[in-house]
Amino acid sequence: MVEIRSVHKKFGSLEVLRGIDLSVRPGEVTVVLGPSGSGKSTLLRTINHLEKVDQGWISVDGTLVGYRRDGNKLYELREREVLRQRTKIGFVFQNFNLFPHLTVLENIIEAPVSALGRPRKAAVAAAEKLLERVGLSDKATTYPAQLSGGQQQRVAIARALALEPRLLLFDEPTSALDPELVGEVLDVMKDLARGGTTMIVVTHEIGFAREVADTVVFMDEGRIVEQGPPADVLDHPTQERTRAFLSKVL
Ligand code: ATP
Ligand code: MG
Repeated sequence: MVEIRSVHKKFGSLEVLRGIDLSVRPGEVTVVLGPSGSGKSTLLRTINHLEKVDQGWISVDGTLVGYRRDGNKLYELREREVLRQRTKIGFVFQNFNLFPHLTVLENIIEAPVSALGRPRKAAVAAAEKLLERVGLSDKATTYPAQLSGGQQQRVAIARALALEPRLLLFDEPTSALDPELVGEVLDVMKDLARGGTTMIVVTHEIGFAREVADTVVFMDEGRIVEQGPPADVLDHPTQERTRAFLSKVL
C-alpha cells in the first residue's frame, strides 16, 4: 500500500530525513514514535507531497507520489495532479484545522463537493453517516468553536474520511487535547483500524500502539532506528536509543 524507499530530505543544511525505508501493507496500522525533531512530521508530510523529497521515492497504492516516471526519469506532477493524489490520502493534524466559518456538516462536505465534484445531496448523506460513525450526529449544524477539542478532532477525522482515502495519516492527533478527551478520539481511531483502514499514526500514546499497531517504528535523527511488532519494539527493544526513549514516555 505504502512504499517508502531511501527517502532523504534537507531543510537548508539540516538533514531531517536520512534514508527512510518503510513499507505498510493494506489494512495495517503503523505507529511512529521518536523524540522531538527526529523527523516524524516531515516524514508524514512527504507521504502526501506537502514536502518534496530530495532523494528516493514514495508510492501509495502503486502510484508514485508527486512524480511520474518515464523510462528512467522522474517528472514532477503539476499542482492539480498533486491535489488529486492528495484526495486519496487523508491527513489529520494535531490542531484539527477545521474551517471555523463552516458548520460541522459543511466542513465535511466541502472537499467532496469542491474537489471531487460530488453532488451536494450525496455528500450530505455520506457526511451524516460519518458523523454517526464518530458519534456526533447531533452536531451537524454546530460551528467548530462550540465543540470540545475531542469533538473537533472527531469532526476532522470524519472530514478526512469523506474523501474515501486509501490511506490515513495522523500527526499527534491527541496531543493538543485535555487528558480526559484523548480516549474518545483514540476510540474512533481504533474503530477505523478494526475496519481495515490503512493508517500511519505519529503518537506518544503507547497504549494505543500496543493495542492497535501492526508495526511500531522508532525514529531518531532522521533515521528508522528500529521497527517491528509492538511486543518486540515496545517490550524488547534491541537498540539503546529506543530503550532510552521508552523509559521516558512509558
Ligand atoms: P515533534 O515531535 O516536535 O513534532 P518531529 O519528529 O515531528 O518533532 P519534524 O517536525 O519533522 O520533527 O522536524 C524535524 C526537524 O526539521 C526539526 O529540526 C525541525 O526544526 C526541522 N524542520 C521541520 N520543518 C522545517 C521547515 N519547513 N523548514 C526548516 N526546518 C524544518
Ligand atoms: Mg511533529
